[in-house]
Amino acid sequence: MAVDITTDLNVVRNIGIMAHIDAGKTTTTERILFYTGISYKIGEVHDGAAVMDWMEQEQERGITITSAATTCWWKDHQINIIDTPGHVDFTAEVERSLRVLDGAVAVFDGVAGVEPQTMTVWRQANKYSVPRMCFVNKLDRTGADFFRCVDMMVDRLNSTPLVLQLPIGAESDFLGVIDLVGMRALTWRGETTMGEDYEVEEIPAAMQAQADEYREKLLETLAEADDDIMEKYLEGETFTVPELEDAIRRATLADKVNPVLCGTAFKNKGVQPLLDAVVKYLPSPLDIEGIVGHDPKDEDKELVRKPSDDEPFSGLAYKIASDPHLGKLIYVRVYSGKLEAGSTVVNSVNGRKERIGKVYQMHANKREEIASVGAGQIVAVMGLKDTKTGHTLSDPAHQVVLESMTFPAPVIEVA
Ligand code: GDP
Repeated sequence: MAVDITTDLNVVRNIGIMAHIDAGKTTTTERILFYTGISYKIGEVHDGAAVMDWMEQEQERGITITSAATTCWWKDHQINIIDTPGHVDFTAEVERSLRVLDGAVAVFDGVAGVEPQTMTVWRQANKYSVPRMCFVNKLDRTGADFFRCVDMMVDRLNSTPLVLQLPIGAESDFLGVIDLVGMRALTWRGETTMGEDYEVEEIPAAMQAQADEYREKLLETLAEADDDIMEKYLEGETFTVPELEDAIRRATLADKVNPVLCGTAFKNKGVQPLLDAVVKYLPSPLDIEGIVGHDPKDEDKELVRKPSDDEPFSGLAYKIASDPHLGKLIYVRVYSGKLEAGSTVVNSVNGRKERIGKVYQMHANKREEIASVGAGQIVAVMGLKDTKTGHTLSDPAHQVVLESMTFPAPVIEVA
């Protein structure tokens, strides 16, 4: 049965996960789908047996991200993960995906640090001021060095890392992280595990001085980025956790800092705090004030579409995919208004009318047919005949061409 999906946009996060090949993008994504799958099931049925069933099924099949946008739920938030290709050969494709996501997580290999393809994607993301967090992965590997990786973020990416966690233990003894916002330790003591939750502990005494030092650095960096924090900081006042979290969110959305977290996706340590941070610090579609476009009949006439279901429909086709069961699917980000199955829209780039066939939201373990979907969402649409990536679809009575995209030739980095 097709359903209507109009979600409170405040709880939606459209994110991409970007990384140099082999840094752990796939593993991190799979672990996110694993955890969100569990929480989705728990939320849905409150039944431990169903959770186990789901885990077994998923372990048999392998949880894989096969779609250009996968929807999952974490603590009452809808996270749409938009696939961002890792290869430089796909520069144009990366650019397209960057246009439709609102925030991103960059995954780094804790041994290799900042690698060339990350530099390329990072620079592309700078162009659109995409708010970004960093996850230093693979801290269980021999030679992993969290602090070197953070230094490389400054040197190679010219970014402002905001270190929110410190690793506890290293390599095969990597045990967990110190949460510098809550000033507590999060640990995973088992040799892991699919799905083990972290323990909350006191900061180990031997690390207290380092934790204090990095907490001070966190406040300094935030104060540089945020006047309210600066004022209180200079007056020597203390900060509550919600105050700090608000300030981190503001500074991240303004693209002034990049929160840094760490762990090992492979061993399942660090992924739940990463999900919490995605929800806390990355933007919702409402944080994007409006998308700029122009009148198809007059390029100089600027039109802005706001992320609201009450606006006329506009959406951007950003990826054409071939699904083994459904055939041709076009992934569309809805920027304004509602997209309805069976409705007629106009491709305002080539002027052709297009009938919207079936509309799907893609999940890790199923796809959901939907009757209509509101602003801010990302869906796969069947039935479009003359639409290519980069084209705008709009309400026939209120046409718009969303900001045209020009794709530069791929930049090949020399390491
Ligand atoms: P991608 O190319 O960025 O998608 O990287 P993958 O997720 O496919 O990971 C590349 C390789 O690194 C795979 O063999 C993973 O099992 C491994 N890997 C991923 N995360 C970790 C980690 O946290 N620790 C270790 N030791 N290996 C990891």
